[in-house]
Amino acid sequence: MKLLKLCLPGLLLLFPVLAHAEVHIVATLPALGQIAAAVAGEDGEVQVLARVGQDPHFVPPKPTLARHLADADLLVTAGLALEGGWLPPLVELSRNSRIRVGQPGRFAGSDAVEVLGGMAKVDRSMGDVHPEGNPHWWLDPLRVAAAASALAGRLAELDPVHADAYRQRAVVFSKRLQSLVQEWKPRLAAGSPVVSYHDSYRYFSECFAIPVIGFIEPKPGVEPSTRHLDELVALITARKVSQVWVEPYHLGRIVKRVATLSGASVATMPDAVEGEGADGYMTMIKRLLETAAGGQP
Ligand SMILES: [Zn+2]
Repeated sequence: MKLLKLCLPGLLLLFPVLAHAEVHIVATLPALGQIAAAVAGEDGEVQVLARVGQDPHFVPPKPTLARHLADADLLVTAGLALEGGWLPPLVELSRNSRIRVGQPGRFAGSDAVEVLGGMAKVDRSMGDVHPEGNPHWWLDPLRVAAAASALAGRLAELDPVHADAYRQRAVVFSKRLQSLVQEWKPRLAAGSPVVSYHDSYRYFSECFAIPVIGFIEPKPGVEPSTRHLDELVALITARKVSQVWVEPYHLGRIVKRVATLSGASVATMPDAVEGEGADGYMTMIKRLLETAAGGQP
């Protein structure tokens, strides 16, 4: 935008409405920030609320985070109640009416993708933290391509001057994501089943046809009983599960016990990594794929 100002001063004098600053985007999670940056490019500035390594369900709602939201033009969320425990008070505190639910400045990626595991008769009173469906869609590169396209559409509405640029970046990003899936899917398909701690990898495992047959958490967000863990160890042994996938923030005593008793190896599978834009997102997915491939025969 600054370059445009220098090159086309006459045009900007004629159309002063074009001379606005970059779109200020706030994303709740690191991966969503990378997706937003991939689409916004030089036309947007992206800030992220959660840090790499934090459980996306339980980000401490520090008032300092509300400051980022105060002047946001667009708030990008995962949706499906993932951020329901911590984001609403921050939005309230920010006093920014443009990013409230239902406003053009609020974008939930879940609205742009096919949701899995939804509409069961569960709610938070039963301890399930996925009451509206599984919100971890950003680990499926193909759903991310759909979300990036929808996000480009929303940015085009908010900033029509750069509409074509947003859409072109989403197309380029989508092609990279599709190539990655085409390259890796044959390498992982028909592999060994796995068990995971939280139900974080449903979309990732569906995309690459890796069966996830059990969970350390009996329900998403619920601590396991000893009996549940004993049954899981028996399942791992019977089905020859080689890997127990664990989110970095769930790595600890419970997963190590399951691995020791069953003989399966612990595979740390990040749902966020450091890195900028499309490259940062691709780094995360490649790390997941390489780790998953390490457990295949
Ligand atoms: Zn979850």
